[in-house]
Amino acid sequence: MEILTPRDVPLGGIRAMNVRRTLPQRQRTLIGAWCFVDHYGPDPVDPSSGMVVPPHPHTGLQTVSWLFTGEIEHRDSAGHHAMVRPGEVNLMTAGRGISHSEYSTPGTTTLHGAQLWLALPDGSRQVDPAFEHYAPSPIGGGGWEARVFLGSLLGDTSPVTTYSPLLGAELRLRAGTTLTVELDPTYEHGILLDSGVLRVDGKPLERNGLGYLEPGASQVVLTADEDALLLALGGTPFGEQIVMWWNFIGREHEEVAEYRAQWQHLLETGADERFSLPQDDPLPALPAPELPHARMVKRG
Ligand code: MN
Repeated sequence: MEILTPRDVPLGGIRAMNVRRTLPQRQRTLIGAWCFVDHYGPDPVDPSSGMVVPPHPHTGLQTVSWLFTGEIEHRDSAGHHAMVRPGEVNLMTAGRGISHSEYSTPGTTTLHGAQLWLALPDGSRQVDPAFEHYAPSPIGGGGWEARVFLGSLLGDTSPVTTYSPLLGAELRLRAGTTLTVELDPTYEHGILLDSGVLRVDGKPLERNGLGYLEPGASQVVLTADEDALLLALGGTPFGEQIVMWWNFIGREHEEVAEYRAQWQHLLETGADERFSLPQDDPLPALPAPELPHARMVKRG
């Protein structure tokens, strides 16, 4: 198991909140189509802090919001207005282009969760923007409970739309529990340990670390030495190189530069052929940062 350790990153917006980012990293861009793993909290918040991410664009990806504690209000330019709540997945498909905002709600006193991105494969990345909400029924056995929000695990399957073979699940293990989990051997996997003390195939995984398991494993043995909360992510190796910059995923520097120009065009003129804004958003949209001077590099 390769262990990816997090780095602290201030989340964009007016009042920055720190997140722990384990993907992408220099040594690894993707696990399946998972290309972005931000993990945060538990952080005490009040109405003057918390998550404040004004409207910003996305292309070529899906965002997966998963909360352990708190509540986040989502608005997007495709007309969706929804709450993100613990144990319920919100999946937003950016496809050819979307914009959205995310604000923790006034009643939220603790924020704790993960914000994840999935890269769309080349044949699907120009799909229309979409939004799905799904609350998986928990499944469980002796000393463990799981919520499968994408793909299949432990006998349960999520109905949420994916564009490549994928897995996303929350697992909770009681102290002293050893759970053998059957895996799809064509998948690579990432185990993100939120809290507790966990061994993965006997090897300790530090808290907030993302343990990477390469394809070929047909099972993994999870041992909780203290109550453990983790996310299991996986998918078939993505097999494409991507350019990730700011909130865009493309395939070439020029394409991403064009997305940036189109977003700025919207902000400057109020209209654009690719992007629009969420209705009735309380805050002005975020301008894109300056393009890097160097050519954006393909990774994956
Ligand atoms: Mn976003």
